[in-house]
Amino acid sequence: LSVGVVRESIPDERRVALVPKLVERLVRRGLRVVVEPGAGAGVLLADELFTAAGAELGDAWHADLVLKVSPPTAEEVARLKAGTVLIGFLKPLSDVEGVAALEEAGVTAFAMESIPRITRAQAMDALSSQSSVAGYRAVLLAAERLTRFFPMLTTAAGTVPPAKVLVLGAGVAGLQALATAKRLGARTTGYDVRPEVADQVRSVGAQWLDLGIEAVGEGGYARELTEQERAEQQRRLTEAITQFDVVVTTALVPGRKAPTLVTAEAVRGMPAGGVVVDLAGESGGNCELTEPGRDVVAHDVTICSPLNLAAEMPGHASELYARNVTELVELLVDAEGRLALDFSDEIVAGACVAGRERGES
Ligand code: NAD
Repeated sequence: LSVGVVRESIPDERRVALVPKLVERLVRRGLRVVVEPGAGAGVLLADELFTAAGAELGDAWHADLVLKVSPPTAEEVARLKAGTVLIGFLKPLSDVEGVAALEEAGVTAFAMESIPRITRAQAMDALSSQSSVAGYRAVLLAAERLTRFFPMLTTAAGTVPPAKVLVLGAGVAGLQALATAKRLGARTTGYDVRPEVADQVRSVGAQWLDLGIEAVGEGGYARELTEQERAEQQRRLTEAITQFDVVVTTALVPGRKAPTLVTAEAVRGMPAGGVVVDLAGESGGNCELTEPGRDVVAHDVTICSPLNLAAEMPGHASELYARNVTELVELLVDAEGRLALDFSDEIVAGACVAGRERGES
């Protein structure tokens, strides 16, 4: 069975789906790994490092199993032959057309986003691994844009108070953002609609902001708020946000537009020189003034909405992703290194978003 590692083509996607260490692991499993020349260029992994690990260079798009990071473009789908098994981020909830194109092309596709978040699948959880990177990078971005220090400093020229950082949405990205801001010396506060994360917020040294609105949904995710809850949440948050120099937002509800948590009025109330980093830009943003993919300055506050932060730290992002993907590949092949898709396994069934019938036949 051949496993292809392709070169990502969309601008600024610097990650690669497999790194040499994990090439070795798949080769030991009896798989042939074919790497497209230059696949690791964005992360400064030369082709020779892949071949030294046992891969061969060649047409990775024609492998039996193709590994990717970003969803394939229409041109990339055209390069896949019918019968290919594809693994990658595929945006199954938002990119309906993209998934339909894979179905039409005869590809059996596994979306990393759709892997059930059960204990057995933790090592495959690429949403978590990449969210960690994004949460960390969001705080570095905020610190760089803020016109003030993060830590408290006592100097001969006077004492500087610590920056106050609020993180809205305390999932994987939010908790990493809180931990990172704390390490930089900020005074941190976290907020979420899932009350069970209060202890996790406190465990990374942050205060818990309790607004009295709870919205626990299915599968450990938040549910969408009702109209009334939403208005109440915005009102209370607008009041709270005026206290903070930095607001990092990470609030998402699967398959829905991201909730608006930071109103224009809230931004107006923030100190001049403050920063909002909105990690929900791709789903419409958590800040009313967000322009996805751009930096805007409004009311003397900078609002950043980076769309693919994990790709800006491609080294560790790729290593973690490669580990996630390798775990899934190992679940899809048998001991002899042959493809063996077992759709009675909830991970295999849950992650498959196109071509299930072909996979079963
Ligand atoms: P996510 O990216 O879907 O959302 C980020 C956060 O935004 C969540 O904590 C959510 O509660 C919050 N949010 C949504 N709407 C909000 C609103 N209106 N106001 C404030 N906050 C709002 O979440 P995620 O980081 O992917 O994690 C979701 C859940 O999955 C968590 O419970 C996490 O612990 C769990 N999880 C489980 C596993 C596992 O068991 N394998 C792995 C990773 C995550």
